[in-house]
Amino acid sequence: MRIGFGYDIHRLKEGIPLVLGGVNVPSDRGCIAHSDGDVLLHALMDAMLGAAGLRDIGWYFPDNSEEFRGIDSKKLLLRVKNLIHEQGFRVGNIDLTVLLERPKIRDFIPLMQQQLASLLDISPLQIGIKAGTNEGVGEVGQGTAIAAWAVVLLERK
Ligand code: MG
Repeated sequence: MRIGFGYDIHRLKEGIPLVLGGVNVPSDRGCIAHSDGDVLLHALMDAMLGAAGLRDIGWYFPDNSEEFRGIDSKKLLLRVKNLIHEQGFRVGNIDLTVLLERPKIRDFIPLMQQQLASLLDISPLQIGIKAGTNEGVGEVGQGTAIAAWAVVLLERK
């Protein structure tokens, strides 16, 4: 078994869509990013890559490449899944935490679990997603950023 950790943070801006865990979440603001800004998937991909001893997502999907401008991060996740499969691993379980002041995303979490489970060919029960606020502290607390952390266990196929 191999363990991996990932972290990501994005600034928020009014008037752009908020995509989290592969789900479009109704919000007055979304993440500023080269891709669709799915901070939760970015943390997850880095944890998967790290567990397999590979490089980070910026290495595989550089943010100065036209190929990845505005790209759906679910497509990147499929590529990361293939990379870890090539290394002889499959996902054992995933534990994710996302911090944002608003909107409340609790009702969207089951859909995120389903999306990620079907993309990674695992059960939703292998994916934990926790959401919280930053209690008003710092950039996340002021609603100008979203941060996410991921821990992933990989197993030998
Ligand atoms: Mg990112």
